[in-house]
Amino acid sequence: MTAKPQQHSAPLLIQNAQVVDPASCRNEVADLFIADGLLLPVPSTLPQGTRRMNAKGLVVTPGLLDLHVHFRDPGATTAETLVTGSRAAAAGGFTHVVTMPNTNPPCDRPKWVQRQLDPALAAHVLPAACVTSGRHGRAVADLEALAAAGAMAFTDDGAMVADPSLMLDALRRAKKLDRVVMDHAVLPELAGTGVIRDCTAANRYHLPVFPPEAEIAAVEQDIRLCRETGARMHIQHVSCAASVTAIRAARRAGLPVSGEATPHHIAIAAEDIDADNGNLRMNPPLGSREDLRALREALLDGTLTTFATDHAPHTPDSKAHGFVHAPSGVIGLETAAAVSYSLMVGVEGMPLIDWVARWTTGPAAILGLPPPALTTGQPANLALFDIHRPWRIQPEHFQSLSRNCPFAGWTLHGHAMLTICAGRVTWAHGSL
Ligand SMILES: [Zn+2]
Repeated sequence: MTAKPQQHSAPLLIQNAQVVDPASCRNEVADLFIADGLLLPVPSTLPQGTRRMNAKGLVVTPGLLDLHVHFRDPGATTAETLVTGSRAAAAGGFTHVVTMPNTNPPCDRPKWVQRQLDPALAAHVLPAACVTSGRHGRAVADLEALAAAGAMAFTDDGAMVADPSLMLDALRRAKKLDRVVMDHAVLPELAGTGVIRDCTAANRYHLPVFPPEAEIAAVEQDIRLCRETGARMHIQHVSCAASVTAIRAARRAGLPVSGEATPHHIAIAAEDIDADNGNLRMNPPLGSREDLRALREALLDGTLTTFATDHAPHTPDSKAHGFVHAPSGVIGLETAAAVSYSLMVGVEGMPLIDWVARWTTGPAAILGLPPPALTTGQPANLALFDIHRPWRIQPEHFQSLSRNCPFAGWTLHGHAMLTICAGRVTWAHGSL
């Protein structure tokens, strides 16, 4: 792909928005001025051609950053592509996404990293590359060459790097490269063929049960390797209460361990699974009510410093034949802000600025990036959300190529109304 020059939108004055910016501890009604792709001081005389937007009642945040998306490109581009996935990201208020390397072929060579770095996309793609060559779990990939090509993180997501000696080598090399290793912490020999946690649906339909120990033992193993190396270790899609407890203890001991919670794991429990619904199947599976409670507590107290969607598109046909026959994964980019806002701020009383931090400064720190901020001179990466008007989730209107959304029909607050990425309007809802 050839890089196209950035097209900045006309200068824009956003008036009367509630500016929520964790990096500068700012939460106040103010105006923002955008020109030449940057946030600039509001000039006393507006340049010719400046558009004005009255954002009264809307919340403006730095563009959200999602640490965990699958864009299926290359390999399964009937489910999603870099272009459609980036559009879905923009429609959810995201300006930055970390793409998982479990494509076909997997992203284990510099050329597969480089092809994702396209400034014409509707979001900044920050590629994660494989930890092991081919994601086979047999030999560590050329992490040095992958980082030089632009890989922002390493993971074999979809599978754990279960061999401790391989993970140890990867962590030592990633530390030298100042990159984080992210792990799909599920020990395959303990998980077996399990697809669902022990629950009513599992019993009723005789489904193979996923034991929580498969995740908990994996998290404990990863924490041990983190302690041994001092390298940054990030646990993907945490789903069990005991995993949260282990991460909390490790962080209190000063280890550079972090973890993410997905909107679906904090919204739906295993007991809610309806066997007709393929959109409730994901890996790791939905947890118990106690797990859901523990994840919310961990987001509130900062044990988990980030949300992440694990946006995993699958074609409608593949998800249409019930829970048992469905592939694992749900889409999440276009509902993540509303689900997480409605549950964490609306139900749990999380301070608004903390909710924004879990989607911006939290994930940026895990990648080792400077904190996204709405301060003068910064690139104009921002999003506006309507937290007052209810929004009904209708996947048929999504930008994603796929429709496997577990929240269809839910009514929530926190719909993204406008997204600006590097000064370009990448999403505008309706007449905005
Ligand atoms: Zn995973």
